[in-house]
Amino acid sequence: MINSLGIRDAEVIWHPYTQHKNLDLPIPILKGNGSLLFDDAGNSYIDAISSWWVNIHGHSNPYIAEKIYRQAQDLEQVIFTNFTHEPAVRLAERLISILPGNQSKIFYSDNGSTAVEVALKMAIQYWINKGITGRNTILAFENAYHGDTFGAMSVSGRGIFTNAFKDFLFDVVFIETPNADNLEEIKSIIKSKKEKIAAFIYEPLLQAAGGMNMYDAENMDQLLSFVRSEQIICIADEVLTGFGRTGSLFASESLSNYPDIICLSKGLTGGFLALGATACRQFIFDAFLSDDRSKTFFHGHSYTANPLACAAGLASLDLLQEKTCLDKIREIQFSHEQFVSASLSKSHGNFFLNPRFMGTILAFELNDGKNNYTNNIGREIMKQALGKGIYLRPLGNTVYLMPPYCITDEELNKIYRFILSIPDVLKV
Ligand code: PMP
Repeated sequence: MINSLGIRDAEVIWHPYTQHKNLDLPIPILKGNGSLLFDDAGNSYIDAISSWWVNIHGHSNPYIAEKIYRQAQDLEQVIFTNFTHEPAVRLAERLISILPGNQSKIFYSDNGSTAVEVALKMAIQYWINKGITGRNTILAFENAYHGDTFGAMSVSGRGIFTNAFKDFLFDVVFIETPNADNLEEIKSIIKSKKEKIAAFIYEPLLQAAGGMNMYDAENMDQLLSFVRSEQIICIADEVLTGFGRTGSLFASESLSNYPDIICLSKGLTGGFLALGATACRQFIFDAFLSDDRSKTFFHGHSYTANPLACAAGLASLDLLQEKTCLDKIREIQFSHEQFVSASLSKSHGNFFLNPRFMGTILAFELNDGKNNYTNNIGREIMKQALGKGIYLRPLGNTVYLMPPYCITDEELNKIYRFILSIPDVLKV
């Protein structure tokens, strides 16, 4: 069958993160249903990474679709200065009621990167509005990923994603993720720069795009206690970890030091529409209240709080908070745990390195001796998996699963079987 849509695509489309030289044509997807994607040639694929981690309830969920349809008939979009609407207010009320750390205001934007930009700008301007100068540096983790806009790139680890732009990124104090061996050294780095540091941004407990690096909660809590004691604003980037991904509703719930600002996107609308949200505590908001107009937060996006996206967010929360969904998250975690301990850790000598799981996320490295993002092993795995009806998208030699919560046991077992077959597939 001729892939005519793929040919038309190649004429006019530039895809994200894609080297177009010598590229296979993209697969035309006609339909999604639950965990499955269906192409125009009659093949189906289990979406094992929830389409870049967004489709927490799977594809084309009828409940969310219906809510968006109904909202579209009433109000599809309205400028979000001077006006407000029920879905935006209700979603903010519901988010505030479940977010950790007494969050009191929600600022809407469009995606994860903008949610991060908003958080950084809030934190920097907070100190300016307070009349404190020089507190304008951000503390962040090496190997972090917070998005692709310039501020988000600046606070992300330097590497292949950011190299071309390095002269344009602002300076950041980078520290390692904490463990028992480096915690004191990290604290002394922070101490030496503390007068300059406005905020600390972190992906709580899981550095995702940086390679599904899971780090220790106890040392992170000690680090956060220390950072808070230095009056540094804490920003949790829960763009990926939010909405049940790591087992609890938000990863920050697994820490006893809660953030002052939280960035949300991805699962927020169940993967239906682009929406970002940045939550903050009252003291941040209060620093912007003034008769002096220069203290206003001058930031906004045309589609801020789009009513359809907010309606999708409300519907997604309805589904997420059902007992069956929360039970399913626990079941997936239990399956991952069984798979890691009973199979992955015991298979093929040391080919599967560092198998690990957190909530619905499972990850491991393939020991191919060439640990870097641009090697070909990930692409080969993706190709082989597609041939078996599974969509995986490894990060270099890190293979991971991040399935929709509606994935069936049968689908999950099919993916596990594929993983165990990788050494044979690659003829290692
Ligand atoms: N923060 C984190 C932790 C992310 O994983 C991502 C996306 N992978 C982003 C921010 C950026 O989100 P978006 O792609 O929606 O801009």
